[in-house]
Amino acid sequence: MENPGRRELVKGLIFSVPLLAALKSEALASPGRGALIELPPFPFQETHLQGERKGGRILVVGGIHGNEPGAYTAAEILRTVKVKRGELFIAPRSNFVSILADKRGYNGDMNRKFGPLSKKDPDYKRVQDLKEFIGNVKPDILLTLHDGYGFHSVNPRAWGQCIVIDAEEHNGFPLGKEARAVSKAVNRSIHKREWRIPVYNTRTFAADTKHPEQRRSLTYYCLTKPKVPAICLEVSKQLPNLETKVKFHLMMLKEFFKLHGVEIEPSFDYLIANVERLVNPKRTYTVDLLINGRHVSVSSSRTFKVPKGSRVKFLSFHGSDGTNAVSFDVNLNLRRVAIRRRIAFTVKDDFRKVFSVRFEVV
Ligand SMILES: [Zn+2]
Repeated sequence: MENPGRRELVKGLIFSVPLLAALKSEALASPGRGALIELPPFPFQETHLQGERKGGRILVVGGIHGNEPGAYTAAEILRTVKVKRGELFIAPRSNFVSILADKRGYNGDMNRKFGPLSKKDPDYKRVQDLKEFIGNVKPDILLTLHDGYGFHSVNPRAWGQCIVIDAEEHNGFPLGKEARAVSKAVNRSIHKREWRIPVYNTRTFAADTKHPEQRRSLTYYCLTKPKVPAICLEVSKQLPNLETKVKFHLMMLKEFFKLHGVEIEPSFDYLIANVERLVNPKRTYTVDLLINGRHVSVSSSRTFKVPKGSRVKFLSFHGSDGTNAVSFDVNLNLRRVAIRRRIAFTVKDDFRKVFSVRFEVV
């Protein structure tokens, strides 16, 4: 998709006074000699699917860790279904910047940020958005999806392939009983020993817990603050491919949905049978830019030569909800960058690189 031969010269505009002030405050480049590039803030994505018939209410959280595509892809697939019975809430990309960076935590481990957290933390808003969503929804159960390391059934210290609970029971909710029912049901069709999915109780509330760090996790927060039952579903990072990771997430979700009376269409069996197609959809991607007041749509790699004093805005991304742009030339948290000479942005669909957009100040 690279097309570095295609270059464009875009006519400049005169900087407005407030923009000059903004550039000075960022102190990244002098405005007369560079260009200012702005991107929209990373969105917090949330979905609510309401069934016609009454049933349970489930909230699925994906993407707390950015390098766990099985988790956020499974959550994303669920956003495409119709709910026939009950209610389904989904936060597929809780940590979008880390997904685009393909890092566990671009700003550190977000699953350790649900205890006290400084307002200065770059993840503060993301964590607050998720907390608010949970508080507003107050689901019957929250299921947070992860791709952990290794295989728990053959290595009890590994987090991959297990259902994690913080306690056998909490606030009268039988976390252990429910997790074991799901474990038993999914293991009926898992024949490879290391791929089996047991229950892992971290005993987070116990004084002698081996996992006191879990007291800063999302599930512990849910149990203690909004008093929402929460369970963590882990597949393994070491499964052979993304399809298999998503499949195991869907298998576990199917059983939890059954327990809580939430029905979807197409069914989980259909999603599991078609997982290969669902994780590799054919898409075209477009990025809409505003370069010195002129609209430009980009669908493949391009380099724009812009005059000094230029102003560029990324307006919107089209392709999937995982489509966005980041520049690895700067800190990914920055969504307004003053450049002197050049910068490259990578347009991504979650972990996949789609094309690049470069700017050179001439
Ligand atoms: Zn994780």
